[in-house]
Amino acid sequence: MKASFSKALVSVAAGTLLSTSALATEFMTIGTGGPTGVYFQVGNAVCQMVHREAAEGRSAGRQHGYRCSAPSTAGSIYNIRNIEAGELQFGVAQSDWQFHAVNGTSKFDDGQIGDLRAVFSVHPEPFQILAGEGSGITSWDDLKGKRVNIGNPGSGQRGTFEVLLNANNADLDYFGTASEFTSSEQSTALCNGDIDAYGYTVGVPNAGVAQAADGCGASIINLNNAAVEKLVADNPYYAFATIPAGTYSTTSADVTTFGVKATFVTSAKVDADMVYEVTRAVFENFDAFKSLHPAFSNLTPESMISEGLSAPLHEGAVRYYKERGWM
Ligand code: GLU
Repeated sequence: MKASFSKALVSVAAGTLLSTSALATEFMTIGTGGPTGVYFQVGNAVCQMVHREAAEGRSAGRQHGYRCSAPSTAGSIYNIRNIEAGELQFGVAQSDWQFHAVNGTSKFDDGQIGDLRAVFSVHPEPFQILAGEGSGITSWDDLKGKRVNIGNPGSGQRGTFEVLLNANNADLDYFGTASEFTSSEQSTALCNGDIDAYGYTVGVPNAGVAQAADGCGASIINLNNAAVEKLVADNPYYAFATIPAGTYSTTSADVTTFGVKATFVTSAKVDADMVYEVTRAVFENFDAFKSLHPAFSNLTPESMISEGLSAPLHEGAVRYYKERGWM
């Protein structure tokens, strides 16, 4: 009796040891964007699913030890550069900047980021110019000489705004002043009258844009001149986008602009098991994931693994997609 009791104790202890070593905790960080943007919601939704799998996996006898955080960052270009540097394991990035990083073009003309890997794409992101109420700005031409926020360095919108200027044969001198407020500062600056307009590449709807549109009467202008038509015709990562009437209180008619996709990226140097578990966590909990932001409502696995991706898919993501029969 006494002997078998201590034997049972020993095997319990051995079992505990085994599962503890299998569950070594590993941390990952996902680069997002400003705290009022949609990237911040993407990163935190992914982390929520990773932690849900960790907890529910425990009761289902399937466990992983990954823990996740998704802090606010400067945005797309910052995220890609910091994934490359090993400071971030994952990040959200515009499809145009993913393309340029892979190809060593535009802001990445100092060298290709050969280790960049795609995991999936997320929501569409129209490039939006918000014009202050009473600014008189209703088209690209009206921006000439105005006080325009071009966004903080490292953000996707800053890069895409520069591309748009270039496409219109203009540079920063086209504006009266060009400011560098972050995405979480720009609506306050617009509503306070410190700037006349700002540019932002962001999912729809977005709380930051709502602050300016619903809060102080700012409007999103149409961007469909010849320069934009050429951008869309010449570049696979740009497409025309519509912001439907009624999205914000000042969106009285559909707005036409151009846009990209938000994408979720990592590095070839990130462990395949980690990428597999992150991918699995999102798609095994897909309805819960989609419910976390209205910009995710039209997402489908088919579009997420095919659209907006220029970098090769990470092998850990491919493992999951093959298991599901999606590839
Ligand atoms: N598209 C923006 C960027 O690349 C971020 C948008 C967001 O935070 O949702 O910096």
